[in-house]
Amino acid sequence: MFDEKKLRYLWNRTVENLVREGIIRSEAVRRAFLKFPRYLFVEERYKKYAHLDEPLPIPAGQTISAPHMVAIMLELADLKPGMNVLEIGTGSGWNASLIAELVKRDIYTIERIPELAEFARRNLERAGVKNVHVILSDGSRGFPPKAPYDRIIVTAGAPDIPKPLVEQLKPGGKLIIPVGSYHLWQNLLEVIKREDGSIKVKNHGGVAFVPLIGEYGWKE
Ligand code: SAM
Repeated sequence: MFDEKKLRYLWNRTVENLVREGIIRSEAVRRAFLKFPRYLFVEERYKKYAHLDEPLPIPAGQTISAPHMVAIMLELADLKPGMNVLEIGTGSGWNASLIAELVKRDIYTIERIPELAEFARRNLERAGVKNVHVILSDGSRGFPPKAPYDRIIVTAGAPDIPKPLVEQLKPGGKLIIPVGSYHLWQNLLEVIKREDGSIKVKNHGGVAFVPLIGEYGWKE
């Protein structure tokens, strides 16, 4: 039987492993991981696996990312208090809880599947997170009402860099996005918007995400 105490013990160990491996590099990300353990964002039957460093199923055939993947993206994003951040691909709401904790302000996260938007809202409420707003929409178009953003973090794989997302970045802002094939193989791109509006792209290597489906993503 995995009670809360055991889940917490296993989770703390996972976080310390990620620190030891140099994947979690900042104290801020370490603290956020400890504050919002992954087991708070999965269904009851998956809680005992939440400390494992691999993706897990969430409703509607989607996934909650592996802890190392989330840590890599958050460290790349280099989030600081006060930054205006948009997340695309809410899923369970876990990554959104971490982002909001790191920027210490309200953030918006977009999900296209109604069942998951509800799942995330329930998880966030139970975890006591009040500054994450889940919007049901096609995130490949971004979210113009709250633009421009310091950071946009996409947790689904796109065929190309979606134009509206670059447009909705502030000059000097950054987009973190997996770009590549539909079936679970992409490159994790860091797209930096220069002051003149042009972009610089850094490739951080191979990752595996479910597809970003939408107007500027894959077609259904
Ligand atoms: N960040 C999530 C978490 O912390 O649990 C994991 C995200 S999961 C790997 C990818 C999510 O992106 C899925 O929930 C999927 O429904 C969503 N998604 C795919 N295309 C989308 C789109 N165009 N707009 C918004 N969400 C989308």
